[in-house]
Amino acid sequence: MTDTLLKESPLLVALDKEKTVYDGFISVQEKDFRLRISLPPDHQLKKAKLHCCWQLKQLLKNYQDIVKQRLRHSSDLVSFILELRTILEVALKSQPGWLSIPPPQYYSQLITEIEDLGWNKLLFIDTDFHTLQLSAEDSSGRQHAITVKLKPKYPAEAPECSADLPVPLAITWTPQSTLAHIHSQFLLIVEALAEFWAVLDEIDEHTWVLEPEKPTRADSMRRIAIGNSVSIKLEIDPRHPKMLPECCLLGAEHVVTPLRNKLNANMHLWNPDCSVLQNMKDVMEIEFPSPATHEKSSFSVECGICYAYRLDSAIPDQVCNDPRCGQPFHQACLYEWLRGLPTSRQSFNVVFGECPYCNKPITVKMAIQKP
Ligand SMILES: [Zn+2]
Ligand SMILES: [Zn+2]
Repeated sequence: MTDTLLKESPLLVALDKEKTVYDGFISVQEKDFRLRISLPPDHQLKKAKLHCCWQLKQLLKNYQDIVKQRLRHSSDLVSFILELRTILEVALKSQPGWLSIPPPQYYSQLITEIEDLGWNKLLFIDTDFHTLQLSAEDSSGRQHAITVKLKPKYPAEAPECSADLPVPLAITWTPQSTLAHIHSQFLLIVEALAEFWAVLDEIDEHTWVLEPEKPTRADSMRRIAIGNSVSIKLEIDPRHPKMLPECCLLGAEHVVTPLRNKLNANMHLWNPDCSVLQNMKDVMEIEFPSPATHEKSSFSVECGICYAYRLDSAIPDQVCNDPRCGQPFHQACLYEWLRGLPTSRQSFNVVFGECPYCNKPITVKMAIQKP
């Protein structure tokens, strides 16, 4: 019988030579529950005593009668263990939350780790102690937060970490790691990005940023106003923030073309020791309108078709090229408008038609749906 028991429940072993006390674990759905079975000297199962860990006790609360009944009627210990496992499967199925409840040492370990790290660095913790948020301040005084989702088998199983970063968050984890390890790795990551954020902070402070509407620390793109319906989109490289960024000028051709020519002709003047904003001014030979000099409303001209500024998150960035018109439209609005006109024609994803305002030729590419 012992051999069969070992095969069926290898974590349950006899403690004594007489084989009257079995102690160990019963495994159900990859979860181990501690239990002890004490048999009388005559090994009669119906007089056996079952001692369960508190988790098992909780789980079997509504199944006590059937457990007692099986103890009385099972043919032997192996059959009983198999039946008990079936009962546990049923119990777990009817209380699915159980599988995610970690053992008590999970909580004590977590409290110790938070104490080691310092409670002042804990921004948030949810009521079931599964998700927490830690704060980190970089050397420039910027505040950052990392969200840590702990698994029931923490620390054996690595937690899931996320943060507002322009690069993937890579945290190295071993079963010996703690929250303090996550925190110190996160500090190194944000410190390495300090120059990137310095570049963006300067842009955010001294220009009118049209997009994104509310930049997060993860956003590396900025669309900056240059003038009425003229803007430049910059994509800052998080790893090389002071290098010439990817640029895209948007607006009417007669305004954009001279700017683009300056940009191309003066690119060699780019000085990586200066800030991106200063370089952009020097290379394009312009001053950017800033909150100190201009109202934002002068750059947020509504779409000539839907009369709104924001359409979902898009701004009206398609501008009529006629210098006397210069009306901006949303890409999606203009595309739909032109496609509805019998006089317009389409070639691949470009529609050719007339400006709804001045009837001069205008083209638009099919709007790409943002995921
Ligand atoms: Zn529109
Ligand atoms: Zn027009």
